[in-house]
Amino acid sequence: MINKRLVMIPGPTPTINRINDQMGRPTCAHGDPDFVVDYKNTIDRIGKMFDCSGQAFIISGSGSLALEMAIANNLKKGDNLLVISHGMFGDRFIDIAERKGINTDVLRAPWGSIVPVDEINKQLSIKKYDAVTVSHVDTSTAVLAPIAEIGEMIHKEHKDTIYIVDGVAATAGARSYVDKMHIDVLITASQKALGVAPGLAIVFAGNKSLKRRETLGRIPEYYVDYEKWIPIMQDPAKYYATPPVNLIWALQEALNVIDEEGIENRYDRHEKQGAAMRKALESLGFTVTAEKGVQAPTLTNCFYMEGIEDQAFRTAVLEEGIMIAGALGEYAGKAFRIGHMGNADLHDLTAALSAIERALVKIGVDIQLGKSIGVFLKEMS
Ligand SMILES: *Cc1c(COP(=O)(O)O)cnc(C)c1O
Repeated sequence: MINKRLVMIPGPTPTINRINDQMGRPTCAHGDPDFVVDYKNTIDRIGKMFDCSGQAFIISGSGSLALEMAIANNLKKGDNLLVISHGMFGDRFIDIAERKGINTDVLRAPWGSIVPVDEINKQLSIKKYDAVTVSHVDTSTAVLAPIAEIGEMIHKEHKDTIYIVDGVAATAGARSYVDKMHIDVLITASQKALGVAPGLAIVFAGNKSLKRRETLGRIPEYYVDYEKWIPIMQDPAKYYATPPVNLIWALQEALNVIDEEGIENRYDRHEKQGAAMRKALESLGFTVTAEKGVQAPTLTNCFYMEGIEDQAFRTAVLEEGIMIAGALGEYAGKAFRIGHMGNADLHDLTAALSAIERALVKIGVDIQLGKSIGVFLKEMS
């Protein structure tokens, strides 16, 4: 019998029926008064959920569009940007910024570790930067950045610098509070820790970022311009570009799911299940790629034991019904990535570990069946 297939990559994450069911509703007009209320409520609720007193934007697009939106509305040609890179997604800002003629400097950590906050502070003191970017969780390395500490430092010592956080693989899974952490722009997308199908780009602009946009005049970008979207976000009865009606309903349901769990409980759950997954995978012989103290709660990347071939292993895991992801960049071929965020529950996580064990046996690795599941359940109890 063929196993059901479960998506355990670091996004898209497993979706649940009550969220998916919203996608199956007959689409209505974006100007339908009932939808207008739903859209407005969703925008306002998500802003509150992530502590943003500025403006939340929910538009069609993937996380990368949200990255572009952040750069487009906070920097102009000739400005200086400091990119803090903890992996491939950190680096993504470089290409976006350089295309716009922004002068970009990069502080890059060795893969698996972070750039220390005082090093960022030092660089910001040497040269004036208009903005700093950092990935909250870089999905290529599974490294968690100390976004609160960086925010505190920028707020205290570099007040004119815009602080941009890529929360695509973190928001709703790892603690992020826009105002409280002095984040000026937080970016995320629907398909990761929010647990919705792919297709929504979400940007939280703090008040400092909204003011920065006002100083830029007419920007070259059309679709991602804050000024085009602010009137719509404040009154979705107005039209600028057609919103993805069904995805917004799905997001609305995802916010209901989060509220039922409680956002703080959700963060605690992610920390606990992240730690348990790391321990479980280590019990089989894998090595977690991220250093202790900076390990993401939302996904784990593991180096293989000697002798395991990446493609053969992942193919065997898929045959057992679980889709995990290959590693990227300098880890490609040497590691795999597994997501444990959003609405992935205990059924999903134990099923994933079970499939990994079955795959290891299938490719001839000598393990004790049930070992990682025992370790996981003990940690979760
Ligand atoms: C997935 C991801 C992105 C890109 O998002 P897309 O929706 O694939 O465009 C950006 N940053 C991080 C940290 C991610 O994990």
